Amino acid sequence: VKHNGKNSFAFYHRKMKDVMNEKIEIEMILREALKKNAFKLLYQPQIDLNSGKIHSFEALLRLKDHSLRPDQFIPVAEETNLIISIGRWVAKAAIEQFVDWRNKGLGEKTIAINYSNKQLRDRDFIIYLTQLVKLNNINPELIEIEITESFLLENNSETMAFLHGLKEEGFRIALDDFGTGYSSLNYLTYIPVDKVKLDKTINDKFLNLANNRVMDSLISLAHSLKLEITAEGIEEWDQYLQLKQGGCDYIQGYLFSKPVEANAAEKLFDHPFIM
Ligand code: C2E
Ligand code: CA
Ligand code: CA
Ligand code: CA
Repeated sequence: VKHNGKNSFAFYHRKMKDVMNEKIEIEMILREALKKNAFKLLYQPQIDLNSGKIHSFEALLRLKDHSLRPDQFIPVAEETNLIISIGRWVAKAAIEQFVDWRNKGLGEKTIAINYSNKQLRDRDFIIYLTQLVKLNNINPELIEIEITESFLLENNSETMAFLHGLKEEGFRIALDDFGTGYSSLNYLTYIPVDKVKLDKTINDKFLNLANNRVMDSLISLAHSLKLEITAEGIEEWDQYLQLKQGGCDYIQGYLFSKPVEANAAEKLFDHPFIM
């Protein structure tokens, strides 16, 4: 038993070290990427179920020279506060892309930007974002900030001030990963959000014949609160059919498009995804 204990301690110790080294390595990659402009954004369409065309694009962060996924590097960025510079880079890059598409005569589609809870430490983020849209003559209603349910569980007065600050400047707010938190639905009645994004896990659970009334109720609930609703992670046609029938507003998922490079997104602007 003693031997075992010792071995498993050594093993545990080694694993801890690996995890720490990995974090340090990711941190270095992120610092380099900020310095060398080695981040890029992919864009995933959200399809409007009424028009069958793209309503908006969600900007999703990638590293140009690494296969690391955001689920791996965003947590490190958050722990090291690099998320503040990265968050600003994302906002700027997304807005520059919006302007580029507009200049090419493609028109204006809403761009959704993910916002991390930890960016609250960036006191001037709203000022930064507001300056960007004003400088570029963009209607702030075309910029949607995605916050998560966990954001609402944090530090109440600060988060509420942030959300109201965004609304005062005319930005839109989406509640991401909806249904994955443990909070009550009560907050939907008082936080100033415009849209909820139903998480993939909820869709996978409730988009089937046995549970379709649950999904229909979720959609009705959102609409009764004057919220738009996007279903995320939709991969199958049957899911689309049920969402359409239930009156869902938007769908995002591999069924229609994966996140794509800007030059590919540009070709989808008027594509009829649903006839
Ligand atoms: P999220 O905001 O919930 O983004 C949706 C994720 O689901 C994306 O993963 C997207 O590629 C993926 N996805 C979309 N459709 C489907 C589908 O049909 N099936 C499946 N299996 N997956 C689908 P991605 O790009 O790897 O991003 C993961 C998470 O990393 C995001 O989750 C978001 O929380 C975070 N993230 C990404 N970019 C940023 C960013 O710029 N800033 C911040 N703070 N977080 C970001
Ligand atoms: Ca998101
Ligand atoms: Ca999500
Ligand atoms: Ca997520």
